[in-house]
Amino acid sequence: LKLEKKAKGKPQKQICQVVLDHFEKQYTAELGDAWSSVRDVLTSPWCWQHAVLLNRFSPSPGLESSLAEQGYRLAFAAALPYLPAAFRCYSRTAPGRFPAQKHQPGRLKEYYLLNAASLLPVLALEVKDGERVLDLCAAPGGKSVAILQCACPGYFHCNEYDDLRSRWLEQTIESFIPDPVINLITVSKLDGRQVGDLQPEFYDKVLVDAPCSNDRSWLFSADPQQAVLRLMQRKELSSLQFQLLRSAVEALRPGGSLVYSTCTLSRAENSDVINLILSSCRNVVPVDISGMARGVSQEFTFLSGMQQHELLVLPEKGRAWGPMYVAKLKKVS
Ligand code: SAM
Repeated sequence: LKLEKKAKGKPQKQICQVVLDHFEKQYTAELGDAWSSVRDVLTSPWCWQHAVLLNRFSPSPGLESSLAEQGYRLAFAAALPYLPAAFRCYSRTAPGRFPAQKHQPGRLKEYYLLNAASLLPVLALEVKDGERVLDLCAAPGGKSVAILQCACPGYFHCNEYDDLRSRWLEQTIESFIPDPVINLITVSKLDGRQVGDLQPEFYDKVLVDAPCSNDRSWLFSADPQQAVLRLMQRKELSSLQFQLLRSAVEALRPGGSLVYSTCTLSRAENSDVINLILSSCRNVVPVDISGMARGVSQEFTFLSGMQQHELLVLPEKGRAWGPMYVAKLKKVS
């Protein structure tokens, strides 16, 4: 299936039919009528939007007026009054992308481009100054950077298992975080499943932004054989996600909380994994995030019928954010 060429000179993205067929079956069953409008957005890259998260450590005169001239407006701030004034994220309903900034050694970047729904796990985590924070699956580092726009942890551990992606994570941190804040950050290359045993009951907050079937990018897999393989191995992801979550629970101090997130619509990797943790760890309880969801409901479309401790962002035309699943849990003892 070939897509129309929408942008001159840009290579054409092609939908991978085998992935689309697989999603069609699964998501029609899981999402019902909502799937067809989600599918329309996911298969139309020219409708995709990007938000611009400003770097509070590198303020740029003129950037905000230039964003305003291009139709961007401040998101989140009015809806979530507990956010610090320095947290500034701009979005607009029109598709397109603000120019990305190149990495230049020794120079801080002024902003990070992202899917606005990626901020929801960070906002749900509610990191406070001085807390010990673990970002268990951190590369390329978008959420680590976003956490540091919200607060200044006392200790911030960013972990990434994959070697190459770990270097990417280090580069992101260097590009956005100056001295002396950077000294609060430890980057490691551990298997996230082992961190709980290595640092039990140590953290106030843990983010598990888990490896998952990335619906948006899988739909455009360039290699159909690899796509088929991935679809066949999809079930194994739920077990990895469960083990990462169990490790995160171990790493939390009693009273600490964790946020689990994925960028897939798949129930097997979302609610099912959370329900399994809730039924197998007696010291873990769900945390209500429906207030936050209500606060940002102008910006996002959520799947209805979710429980209070979880949300699922459905991409829609004009608010083409997500897919993003977020759930919050607390360790009570
Ligand atoms: N949080 C990142 C961000 O916002 O930029 C995105 C994280 S991505 C969804 C998931 C990451 O988990 C990938 O970079 C992947 O390499 C990493 N990963 C996969 N298996 C892992 C494991 N066992 N332990 C830790 N990280 C793992």
